[in-house]
Amino acid sequence: MKKIHYENIVEQVAEICKKSNYNLGEDVYSAFKLALQTEQSEIGKEVISQLIENADIAKAEQVPMCQDTGTAVFIVEVGQDCHIVGGSLVDAINEGVKKGYGEGYLRNSIIYNPLNRKNTGDNTPAIVHIDLVEGDNITIHMTAKGGGAENMSDLKMLKPSDGIEGVKKYILSIVKEAGPNACPPLVVGIGIGGNFERCAYLAKKSLFRPLGVRHEDPVVAELEEELMSEINRLGIGPQGMGGNTTALDVKVEVESCHIAALPVAVNLNCHASRHQTITLT
Ligand code: SF4
Repeated sequence: MKKIHYENIVEQVAEICKKSNYNLGEDVYSAFKLALQTEQSEIGKEVISQLIENADIAKAEQVPMCQDTGTAVFIVEVGQDCHIVGGSLVDAINEGVKKGYGEGYLRNSIIYNPLNRKNTGDNTPAIVHIDLVEGDNITIHMTAKGGGAENMSDLKMLKPSDGIEGVKKYILSIVKEAGPNACPPLVVGIGIGGNFERCAYLAKKSLFRPLGVRHEDPVVAELEEELMSEINRLGIGPQGMGGNTTALDVKVEVESCHIAALPVAVNLNCHASRHQTITLT
């Protein structure tokens, strides 16, 4: 059985925490460049140019692209044939977050609990979702999820009779209500199905799919395209200054659900859509 060492996980997690905050992913950067060509408003274009410049400076100087360095959220695919040596996976991830945020001078944004609101001082605990998969590798997907966009996210248990039109109407209403507060241009992550908690997870998971990559099911892919067009017709625009680039992309994940249910979750991500993936082999 393959052994993966605790310290290896700590070191690699620390690196992706820094990297995600300093280096905007190529997919998001390319989406900015494309939006610069398609944005019709002059002020919208100016905002996108500034976002590109901001990403360039962050990368060149290895500084955070935003003062909100996010909640460290992980989806970890753990191969059922590997063995973690020297400590637990979740402890290793938290130690990596502590190290990465500390070494990288990244803002600590996590509090012990919402009732006492005291900062934990090291951006832990991270939020860790674990998927047990076949094989003996560990793949770690990480996002530094901005608080402003998370605050404007929502979940609703629709009625089956609301149908697909009800789903679209609800999603558009959430993006419209968010307006400039979620720091557009957005990546809109949507979960449809599952149950109450699974639906929220699906919406989050969808945000890890690279921009420009459509869902493999053509029906879902078509829904993503349609929602993207509708959202970009809302006129919110980059940073809410008006324009036709409200969303850089829309991602939908769908799962089975109860016959009496139609759960829908909308997890908004801001223009600082930071995600990294590493595989420990
Ligand atoms: S929501 Fe995103 S862009 Fe807005 S302040 Fe937070 S990290 Fe920065």
